[in-house]
Amino acid sequence: MDLVIRNGRVVDPARKIDGVVNVVIRGGIIQSIGNGSVSDVPVFDATGLIVAPGFFDIHVHLREPGTEEAETIGSGGEAAVAGGFTAVAAMPNTKPPNDNPSITHFIVSEARRSSPARVFPIGAITKDQKGETLAEIGEMFEVGIAGISDDGKPVMDAQLFRRALEYAQMFDMPVIQHCEDLSLSRGGVMHEGIYSTRLGLNGIPAAAEETMVSRDLILAQMTGSKYHVAHLSTRRAVEMVREAKAQGLRVSAEVTPHHFSLTDAAVADYDTNAKMNPPLRSADDVAALVEGIKDGTIDAIASDHAPHHINLKMLEFDRAPFGITGLETAIGLATTKLQLPIGRLIELFSINPQKIMRVKSWGLFEGSSADLTILDVNRNWTFDVNRSRSRSRNSPFHGWQFKGKAVGTVVGGKVVYEDRA
Ligand SMILES: [Zn+2]
Repeated sequence: MDLVIRNGRVVDPARKIDGVVNVVIRGGIIQSIGNGSVSDVPVFDATGLIVAPGFFDIHVHLREPGTEEAETIGSGGEAAVAGGFTAVAAMPNTKPPNDNPSITHFIVSEARRSSPARVFPIGAITKDQKGETLAEIGEMFEVGIAGISDDGKPVMDAQLFRRALEYAQMFDMPVIQHCEDLSLSRGGVMHEGIYSTRLGLNGIPAAAEETMVSRDLILAQMTGSKYHVAHLSTRRAVEMVREAKAQGLRVSAEVTPHHFSLTDAAVADYDTNAKMNPPLRSADDVAALVEGIKDGTIDAIASDHAPHHINLKMLEFDRAPFGITGLETAIGLATTKLQLPIGRLIELFSINPQKIMRVKSWGLFEGSSADLTILDVNRNWTFDVNRSRSRSRNSPFHGWQFKGKAVGTVVGGKVVYEDRA
């Protein structure tokens, strides 16, 4: 695919690039970055816009195979590019789960057929995500997984988790943990605090996350493996990751937009779109997450896009499933809520996610695949969940106003999403 992106502010913090130039793309590959142009190809006028390395959401649930009424690889890919993401990493908790190479192969080939965004599958750590024996990790690696996780569930057995860390090291893949001690969180539906007491709902204490992060960091140190904390949500967990990094461990962490934008107060009217796992935490936890984003303790922002059919979210709070959609609101929440320098925003959404997962990197350099996110940081817009590309509607951000939006998404030199004012 051929394209010229003209006159945009091109920013790539990994290559120390920041300037108004043209990007010339030939055959889906960046041919030149500079003042040059060509006349025989389509033009994307990026005057006044930011041109960044393609954003990569490393925590997404696409629901296919098995729950296609909530999302498919195709519809999730459409939602991804509408949110400015050129790539997503797909969590393995499908039905059946991605714990063997035939499912991995299905996801890879279905993504090529139906998704405008690139899809990197994440393999399960354990067979059927049961936490009992290791999945076919080596075989899935051959087909293209970018990491392993039992997300949705933690690996409770410490010896098994140690073996997973050791095994993943052979492939230099990250082991991604959903940190939740199930004996502490059992029966809980929201954060344990004043709101859970007031609402009469069973709480999930911050300690359920923190004891698991603590155990895992000891195992990560022991094995020297690449360890990644999914959806970090508490102050003490942020502090432990900060200390581990200072000690030189190969640890990374992500935070979701809902965890830095909302507190457990959002549950007050029993809104099932405020039910997620880990739960929305206290205002003090949110402040610690924002600090962690700003000081580099937190490496990435990932949506934990978790579509559910509307019938399930219509259930009473106790019985409704955990999770919300997030691909289309992630950037708007980050630009509106965090006030970050543009380079730091791009690190969180593209550079660091690429480093965390086992992928061939892309960016603003000659020879890179032309995977680009074009941002208008001044664009005011309102999220309308009824116009979402996702098959599901479970978002607490319907009607929210944002400043900052992806207005162009380019994958392999092809404009797969465009939203001009
Ligand atoms: Zn999770």
